[in-house]
Amino acid sequence: MGAKLLRNGFLIDGTGKEPLRGIDVLIEGNKITQIGVNLEIPSRLNPYDVEVIDLDGKVIMPGMTEAHTHLTWDNALYIQDIDFKPIEETMVAAIRNAETLVKSGFTSSVSAAARGRVDIAIRDAINRGELIGPRLLANGAEVSASGSFVDLHPNHVRVHGLAILSDGEDAVRKTVRSLFKEGADLVKINVSGESLTPHARGEMTLYTDKEVRAAVEEAHARGKRVYTHARSSDSVKYCIQAGVDIIGHADFINDEVFEMLVENKERHFVVPGLNWLVSTLEDGAKYFGQEAIDATGYKEGLEIALFNMNRLHKAGVRVLPGGDYGFKWCPHGGYARDLEHFVKLVGMTPMEAIVSATKYGGQIMEMEDRIGTIEVGKLADILVVDGDPLKDISILQDHSKLKVILKDGEYIVNTLAVKRSAESPVA
Ligand SMILES: [Zn+2]
Repeated sequence: MGAKLLRNGFLIDGTGKEPLRGIDVLIEGNKITQIGVNLEIPSRLNPYDVEVIDLDGKVIMPGMTEAHTHLTWDNALYIQDIDFKPIEETMVAAIRNAETLVKSGFTSSVSAAARGRVDIAIRDAINRGELIGPRLLANGAEVSASGSFVDLHPNHVRVHGLAILSDGEDAVRKTVRSLFKEGADLVKINVSGESLTPHARGEMTLYTDKEVRAAVEEAHARGKRVYTHARSSDSVKYCIQAGVDIIGHADFINDEVFEMLVENKERHFVVPGLNWLVSTLEDGAKYFGQEAIDATGYKEGLEIALFNMNRLHKAGVRVLPGGDYGFKWCPHGGYARDLEHFVKLVGMTPMEAIVSATKYGGQIMEMEDRIGTIEVGKLADILVVDGDPLKDISILQDHSKLKVILKDGEYIVNTLAVKRSAESPVA
């Protein structure tokens, strides 16, 4: 396998350590094998085979992880649109979204639910090298109670869409078992409501503690994990008590549940999905009118979420980016907005926001020994950024600034000149 030598980068390695100037990174095959200043090409490598890219001081950082992805939500106006879109069109959109995701600098992704087996098929095709996309943890339909925020059709209409309605412990077990049988890496359980739907608001807890526990037991028995939609304080409490692995949102936690989360911070990841709230408040009125947006209570909800994310982050709970992209007002491609929200709204430093997207990303992917930081021995999931995200975190949203994207040592994007470390001898 060939080798690549990235010369003279400004290294933000994802560990949170001070960045370093003038750093070279050597990649052999898919692995990072040396990091240092003015590296010599090791004698084990044929210099004709080493591709050298002069970064000219540009930032080199790990590929990021999007921790709340819906490849199959695409340009939707209503949640019902996701239900009604035929699966064939949904599949085409999801393939495109997988490519958009990795070309946005997110070399890994944790799905937070998908239509049918689309995620699973895409994950497998990416892994076989047939499609361009991130390392993907695939999910299936949302496991949800009747009357929840994804149960949106009149009772006489049954739709096999984004959710599988499952009531009671046995039904939850059955659904979870069937999703894992189909090849999901994790399942999504909607424990609380969502205030865009008046009949099942975010402050409401829609599953019982026993139903949540049943899902977790079934997942953990298979060495798999549970991802929840949990906004209300009680829903988060049930998640902690049941050992849910990834808690989505966690906005309305009270002091008791905050303390519980902090006590169990090694066990849980929190993915607030802030961009959903921010962009709905920014642009939702265009589609639904101001009155409807006001009725969601998202304005107050966002304030409470920011207060809680700030204190969770300060207490050492891992809070990760991932923002429910796939609706008209928060389209695919904008994923790095969450990092900006972390800095401007939650109070993280830019370095902390980068660590949450990279190092913690490796952890939530359960690949922390292989990805998430730029260190010798890790896989080469690497971004070269023209501009300093420590000075302006929003630069990561500008895809034209992502000059190189490597995943597993291979170019997803490269707009920089590549030279050979030695010219081929004249024949
Ligand atoms: Zn979601």
